Amino acid sequence: MKFELPKLSYELDALEPYISKETMEYHYGKHHQTYVTNLNNLIVWTEFENMSLEEIIKKAPAWPIFNNAAQVWNHTFYFTTLNSPKIMMEKAWVWNLYTQENKWKDWTAPKWWTKLVNLMAKKWPHHDDFKKEFSDMALKNFGSGWTWLVLNTAWELEIINTSNAWTPLTTENKPLLTCDIWEHAYYIDCRNVRAKYIENFWSLVDWRLVEERV
Ligand code: MN
Repeated sequence: MKFELPKLSYELDALEPYISKETMEYHYGKHHQTYVTNLNNLIVWTEFENMSLEEIIKKAPAWPIFNNAAQVWNHTFYFTTLNSPKIMMEKAWVWNLYTQENKWKDWTAPKWWTKLVNLMAKKWPHHDDFKKEFSDMALKNFGSGWTWLVLNTAWELEIINTSNAWTPLTTENKPLLTCDIWEHAYYIDCRNVRAKYIENFWSLVDWRLVEERV
């Protein structure tokens, strides 16, 4: 088997109470695994057999090799950007940054998030506006897909939606963060209430990793 399900740096119950162990068992253990298995089966004896995942995504026709390859990549990007809410609270930073200037005035920001915060402050002077715009985009992404924070070629941040397996990897945009808004990502925990899942998502984002991608 060429491609494998990526190891996660956290246990399957680490995202609770925001994403349950049961969701992880299905979403990571079954859905993500199935995309990996399908891709491995599909590329045998094809020109894609010896390509990297990124190469397959850029070169394969839209279906089905592309779909499975892109879904493997998108899910790996999504799951590896999440981490335990306990850890995320310790790293809490940017949510309060724009609205509590005085609090931060005499405090030196860690160097590792300077680039991202500068870009975000330029685009969304009030940080709540970023969170609201991203959440609104995720909420209105019709059907199955992904909502992304990307860095475009003009070195500006943008929030974009993609449908089905589509991914910014096929564009000039550099992906920094994504939220999976396929129903399988939230139906066990939140049933039909996508808004609740999106709100929960904010407690799990590892912003240090997002910063490293800038
Ligand atoms: Mn998914």
